[in-house]
Amino acid sequence: MSAVLHRNLRSTPQLALKGDGVYLVDAEGRRYLDASGGAAVSCLGHGHPRVTAAIIAQLGKLEYAHTSFFTNEPSERLAQMLVDSAPAGFGKGRVAFLGSGSEAMEAALKLARQYFVEIGQPGRSRFISRRMSYHGNTLGALAVGGHAGRRALYQPILIETSQIAPCYAYRDQRAGETEEAYGLRVADELDAEIRRLGPETVAAFIAEPIVGATLGSVPAMPGYFARIREICDRHGVLFIADEVMCGMGRAGAMFVSAQEGVRPDIITIAKGLGAGYQPIAATMASERVAGAIEAGSGLLANGHTYMSHAVACAASIAVIETIEAEGLLDNVQRMGALLSRRLNEAFGQHPHVGDIRGRGLLQSLELVADRDSKQPFAAKEGLAARIKQTAQGLGLICYPSSGTADGVNGDHVLLAPPFTIDAGHVDEIVETLGAALAATLPAAR
Ligand code: PLP
Repeated sequence: MSAVLHRNLRSTPQLALKGDGVYLVDAEGRRYLDASGGAAVSCLGHGHPRVTAAIIAQLGKLEYAHTSFFTNEPSERLAQMLVDSAPAGFGKGRVAFLGSGSEAMEAALKLARQYFVEIGQPGRSRFISRRMSYHGNTLGALAVGGHAGRRALYQPILIETSQIAPCYAYRDQRAGETEEAYGLRVADELDAEIRRLGPETVAAFIAEPIVGATLGSVPAMPGYFARIREICDRHGVLFIADEVMCGMGRAGAMFVSAQEGVRPDIITIAKGLGAGYQPIAATMASERVAGAIEAGSGLLANGHTYMSHAVACAASIAVIETIEAEGLLDNVQRMGALLSRRLNEAFGQHPHVGDIRGRGLLQSLELVADRDSKQPFAAKEGLAARIKQTAQGLGLICYPSSGTADGVNGDHVLLAPPFTIDAGHVDEIVETLGAALAATLPAAR
């Protein structure tokens, strides 16, 4: 009987005893290829000596000092590294370090609100996001999230927000419509929603540049984010890019916003920032936002006890330095292309694999009951969860997501392996996933 409040109170999960590169090892010595890095977290695999050494070295100097009294070396250095590598508009921006992606999203929403108060537009308090998005589990982050299943229990205590369509071509692109035309059509829903609410009431639009936790991995169509930026500018609305899952190298660049050529006003990052070695996230305020607060009250209204944690920041510096020193962005691009090719070879004609998509080492399959009609499996079958469990039994960790609660789409398997994988690991992932699908999907019965 466990005293831990586990996700499932009736069963205790396997005990992870140690990490060994891209593998996790349980108490019985069974090895699992961590092909989703947990939830797209462990981008350097487990037990990387450089990060471990950096943590130990920082502990020898200073573990923590409260931000209302002091700053510390690692947080100053990490903030500079991040603004130096961020998209245009962040060079003179500022960064807040927090403990989780959800906290980073809360901070982003609060920053947007504070920005408008500082510039004399206090009427702007509404947020618009996208259906089938995920921005975290704290109440503010959940309120802007668009996953009906995850919101349901808490609905009565969530602030009211608006949602527009995601950029999700597999389900929504019309016959004869080009990718660009589709992207612009769904982006224009933002313009319509801002007008409906009244531009003077809208603070920010929030989107994941590549959707992760709810739809597998869905990059936007070319031109989509440029149009989003144009619409936000037209109405004086801020754009918050949630790069908690897709940022920090996962898609082959440190910032997906930069890949998309878009300038957000606020960016959030988390998972790969600490790579699982420390819980750390960041909310990055562009020069526009940070500058307005500096010129206004000069005071950040939002604060948490563990902000700018020195050991967490030192770990992140080591993670970023490792990505650079080991040329891992190149490896993400090469292994991402290989993984995508191998998934297409293995499952491109599979009767229950409707779509294979992603960017870099954020790849996914969308599973359907019927390939032609794209009919999802019934939610009660819990397919994604069953595949996850079967794969784990076969030694593969993959991340299931199911949007079926929204009634329009189905089950997904998300792959987000460490940036350090090689071609042999790609083969192992595809082979074991194939065995898990064969054991789970109806066609193989
Ligand atoms: N934003 C996105 C895009 C995410 O994928 C997640 C987590 O999956 C979050 C925010 C919340 O991050 P956390 O679970 O660290 O609070």
